[in-house]
Amino acid sequence: MRCPKCPGTMLAQTYGRKIVLHRCDECGGLFCAPDVLLEMKREWMSEIVLDSGNKKLGSVLNEVDDINCPDCGVPMEKTYDKNQTHIWFESCPQCEGIYLDAGEFSDLKYDTFMDRIRDFVKGARPDA
Ligand SMILES: [Zn+2]
Ligand SMILES: [Zn+2]
Repeated sequence: MRCPKCPGTMLAQTYGRKIVLHRCDECGGLFCAPDVLLEMKREWMSEIVLDSGNKKLGSVLNEVDDINCPDCGVPMEKTYDKNQTHIWFESCPQCEGIYLDAGEFSDLKYDTFMDRIRDFVKGARPDA
């Protein structure tokens, strides 16, 4: 599978028992199914192992937004996480595959973690 953003190759990677995704050997971009992304968010430390790409390169490549799905070749659409609207990523209208630049998954995961802490603190505070 070829990387849609650089001349690199997307290689299959597994993490844990349920996570199978493709990772670019050049830029560290990730390509996975939406349900796999949910599993990745749940898996402790997954971002350290899976999202080890060059973040600087990732943010440069984040500017590249006319890409085709590495799996089916149709143009991907820019979309954002419903809970974290500042994080944009590409999603395929056909296979629903998601492409994340290097560093984006860490962002997504870390923010989810922080949101949870915020919710916890909110919940712990008695209503005045
Ligand atoms: Zn790449
Ligand atoms: Zn696709």
